[in-house]
Amino acid sequence: MPSTQDTSFDAIVIGAGFSGLAMLHHFNQIGLRTVVLDSADGVGGTWYWNTYPGARTDSEFYYYSFSFSKEVREEWTWKERYPAQPEVKAYLEFVARRLDLYKDIRFGTTVERAVYDEAANAWTVTTADGQALTATYLVSGMGVLSAPNLPDIPGASTFAGESYHTSRWPRDREVDLRGKRVGVIGLGASGVQLVPVVAETARELFVFQRTPNYVVASSNREVDEQWMAQVKENYDESFERAFDHGFAVPFVKPELGAKDASPEERERVFEQGWAEGGFHFMLETFNDLAVDQESNDHASDFIRRKIRETVTDPATAELLCPKDYPFNGKRPPGGHGYYEAYNRDNVHLIDIKSTPIDEITPEGIVVGGQLYELDVLIFATGFDAMTGTLTRIDIVGRGGEVLREHWADGIKTNLGVSVHGFPNFFMILGPQTPYANLPVAIQAGVGWVADAVEYAREHGIERLESTAEAEQEWADEVRRAGSATIMASGAKANAWFIGANIPGKPLEFNVYMGGADAYFRRCAEVADAGYPGFVSETANA
Ligand code: NAP
Repeated sequence: MPSTQDTSFDAIVIGAGFSGLAMLHHFNQIGLRTVVLDSADGVGGTWYWNTYPGARTDSEFYYYSFSFSKEVREEWTWKERYPAQPEVKAYLEFVARRLDLYKDIRFGTTVERAVYDEAANAWTVTTADGQALTATYLVSGMGVLSAPNLPDIPGASTFAGESYHTSRWPRDREVDLRGKRVGVIGLGASGVQLVPVVAETARELFVFQRTPNYVVASSNREVDEQWMAQVKENYDESFERAFDHGFAVPFVKPELGAKDASPEERERVFEQGWAEGGFHFMLETFNDLAVDQESNDHASDFIRRKIRETVTDPATAELLCPKDYPFNGKRPPGGHGYYEAYNRDNVHLIDIKSTPIDEITPEGIVVGGQLYELDVLIFATGFDAMTGTLTRIDIVGRGGEVLREHWADGIKTNLGVSVHGFPNFFMILGPQTPYANLPVAIQAGVGWVADAVEYAREHGIERLESTAEAEQEWADEVRRAGSATIMASGAKANAWFIGANIPGKPLEFNVYMGGADAYFRRCAEVADAGYPGFVSETANA
């Protein structure tokens, strides 16, 4: 067990969320002396920071968890179909306790820089509190939607009331919104979860909408004993099915395309998917909603119809209907009374697409010359996704090359795991890994990295690193796969998965849209074949 004074390790893992905890456990199992560093004061990563009202998973509990630990599977009992943030955080705390991980985690430790020393074949990580730690292997478990995006709106810093970003919600005190006038900017998954909850307590809620979303209701419910017992019994089978699914969920794969169904059948299937809720609508209704425009139009029309049926004021309903991009053009959020919230007298929708925000003043937000006075301003404005955490710190590879410079002309990775010029550096959920249900992708990723490291150690390989060719090949495949989908329209919809939500960020797919199942198979093939596409230098090479 490393002591708190130790500075030299086999592996350093950055981040103590789903990825970092799973990586630590897997490294422990192959006997690597590992330390995990995290700037937070507890485990959880995303689920540590995102404590905004309404925060919960968009995936159901039984595949938003790990299957690799029998103890955890059997001893943990979930309470809600879509667990709320405290429940997911408690789960990760349980994982850390049960797998004896806490002793190897240093909290309150912010990594500033990681530098590879070729002569020593080691990474040195320096932290904000002055520690310098070295290790052979460096793993990023920093998360994909973790670097907050605060938009550059004129006057934003002058606001005199309370202002919060959803992912940095105060943790040391309760934010009391009772009797207050609250403004929300941002209606992705975070804003969509927040709106109905804040609507219940705020005196007035002003929702500033630029792009409406296709929100599918999630129909949350309690997990009863019988359901939990059934899930526990079928964990292995469920995860096998998730690994064999394009979105890494254990869902039934539909056989029919929407445009091939009769109008009656289409309606019946859409209604059924809508009632089941959440990702079931997107993934279990028809097999071509992400690839065929005509079929997608049917789904988009269906959702718009649901919005018009739910929202009583026709003008508000029209504003909430996305019209200039298709369903799946942005990551569809799960709703919990979202559209219903607009039927409340204290909720006001303001269209900032046709009339953009003029400025933020000490009193509130000015749109088209009209001041909306606010006591609290909430930014649910998302993240510099996939690459943000990796490019905001200095990760310096061979010859002093910094990772953000390596990607200056476009992201290049080998399977989203490894980067040429950065030996023995691995990313869990790196850019160009699949667009999927993340805990399953994480479980696959940490397993693959642990196997690769074990292989390297067994074969005397000192440096495991992608070749330049393999990296280019994967970048090409990511581009090919993405442009074959409806998600390519994400550029129109400012989607984070194509980098369009951050002004100035290159427009390119930062996730793999070719299917998690295909990706997992490819990773397995690479491992089985002895890691072709990787430079693998042995000690006497
Ligand atoms: P997001 O999807 O990127 O949404 C950001 C929102 O902020 C958009 O509505 C965007 O409007 C708006 N915005 C950004 N800059 C703006 C500006 N200058 N003026 C006005 N509006 C602006 O971010 P998110 O909601 O945090 O979600 C990001 C991802 O995190 C999700 O897609 C999901 O993958 C994950 N997430 C998951 C969960 C869950 O599973 N439970 C919960 C939260 C987040 P435009 O669309 O017009 O750009």
